[in-house]
Amino acid sequence: MSHDTFTDCLGFPVPELALPYWNRADEVKAVLRQLSKLKGWAAELHERKDPLYVEVNLSFIRVELGNIYQNLKGALPFAVCTDCQGQQPENCELCRGRGVISQFRWEHALPPEDRDTRQGQIKKLQQATLENKTMSPSCPSYATIAE
Ligand SMILES: [Zn+2]
Repeated sequence: MSHDTFTDCLGFPVPELALPYWNRADEVKAVLRQLSKLKGWAAELHERKDPLYVEVNLSFIRVELGNIYQNLKGALPFAVCTDCQGQQPENCELCRGRGVISQFRWEHALPPEDRDTRQGQIKKLQQATLENKTMSPSCPSYATIAE
C-alpha cells in the first residue's frame, strides 16, 4: 500500500515527526475564522454607530482583534523547519518542537541563505518526482481565511 507524501506550502515533504502539528492547521484556522468574524462584527457596529455601544471603543477592539489574528497565525504551519528539517525538533530553537514553522518565521526569522537552500532542495525533489506524482500539496492555505 502506498501513501502520499504530504508537502508543506513550498513543496517540501513533511516528515513523520512534524505531521501531528502539520495536521492541526484546521484547528488554528477555525479560531482565525472566528476572530475574522468578530473583527467584521466590530467594524459593522462601528459603522452603524449603535447607541448601545457608545461606551465601547469599537475601533480599538477592531485593531486589537487584528493584532490577535496576526499573532495567532504563528500557530499555522507553513514550512518544514529549515534548521532541524523536522527531524530533531525537540532541541530545535527555530521550530521549538514542532518541526514546522509559520509563514512569518519563514519570511522574517531566517537568514536568506537558509531560504535559498530550501528552495534548491525543493527544485531537486520536484525534478526527481516529476514522473511519479506522489506528492500531495497539503498547504493550509491562508487564502481560505478572510482577514
Ligand atoms: Zn526545527
